[in-house]
Amino acid sequence: MKALVYEGPHNMPICDYPMCYPEAGQVKIKVKYCGICGSDLHGYTGASGRKIPPMVMGHEFSGVVTELGEGVTKFKVGDRVSVLPVEYCCECEFCKRGAVNICANRRNLGVLDVDGAFTEYICMNEKFVYALPDSVSDKEGALLEPLSVAHHAVGLAQPIENNNVLIAGTGTIGLLIVMLVKAAGAAKIVVTDLSEDRLSLARKLGADITVNPAVQDLDATLKEAGIRNNIHVAIECVGATPTCQTTVDYVKIQGRVVWVGNAAKMVTVNMQNIVTQELKIFGSYAFTEEDFSDSLKLLAERKLPASEIITRIVTLEHATETFEELTKGGSKDIKVLVDVNG
Ligand SMILES: [Zn+2]
Ligand SMILES: [Zn+2]
Repeated sequence: MKALVYEGPHNMPICDYPMCYPEAGQVKIKVKYCGICGSDLHGYTGASGRKIPPMVMGHEFSGVVTELGEGVTKFKVGDRVSVLPVEYCCECEFCKRGAVNICANRRNLGVLDVDGAFTEYICMNEKFVYALPDSVSDKEGALLEPLSVAHHAVGLAQPIENNNVLIAGTGTIGLLIVMLVKAAGAAKIVVTDLSEDRLSLARKLGADITVNPAVQDLDATLKEAGIRNNIHVAIECVGATPTCQTTVDYVKIQGRVVWVGNAAKMVTVNMQNIVTQELKIFGSYAFTEEDFSDSLKLLAERKLPASEIITRIVTLEHATETFEELTKGGSKDIKVLVDVNG
């Protein structure tokens, strides 16, 4: 079968890869759509060091079940599915209390040397596989992973209803958070980003106030809106000093700050403000089973316009050149999906 094999920085040809066969408890999935994640791009350039060649990336995917291993009961051939792409152990102290996102023994698909889904077929334990209801498309199925990341971050920031929320950064996760807090009944939603296109999409998805800090004064805009000192929740979705500082600067006294962006290792923030204003800062990493199933439910109930963030679909043959293009910067894309078997 064909697979997109990462062999080193900027080197990811389509190769013949050994076909997988489902072991007991596994289902074989023909991959339909697999999203390109920012972490894949940072892996592709070698910047993150989180991909150990040779390996296959891809952890945001949907597909169809084509074969069942012994003892599989949850699925039948032909079922449309999405996959929770973290094999957690169920036995460590974190798994035992449901925090499978920080499982001590987790294996993340498409990270380090664990193969992911930029391949025609993948075999997965049925425990990590979720059936897609008719109301959820294959494309939306590929958005379930990033949506679950956003869902986990919003969960840490609760309550959202009738609270003013600031979201710093509107890549995939930031935009999905805009949708989630809108659906959760946020009062005013304020969004900052350096891209006018992304800000305009954020407005379409429910943001009330959008600010490009390169050309607009966030402070003055919030004063004018009467919420300068009344932001209850601030969520950072970039992973960089300026946006971390924005969340700390603009959340109200004793407010809740969630950092879900994951890029820079070190950031500089005004610690005195955190201490003297008793800010609550939460790190948010990945998602739990509950985030995954709740996100699927929100999609099934048509509560979120999630597919609005899909800007392009490419074939596996064009995937590598798309990676190359996206890592050059300046792209207007938000989420690009690879139609793996297309
Ligand atoms: Zn991802
Ligand atoms: Zn565990």
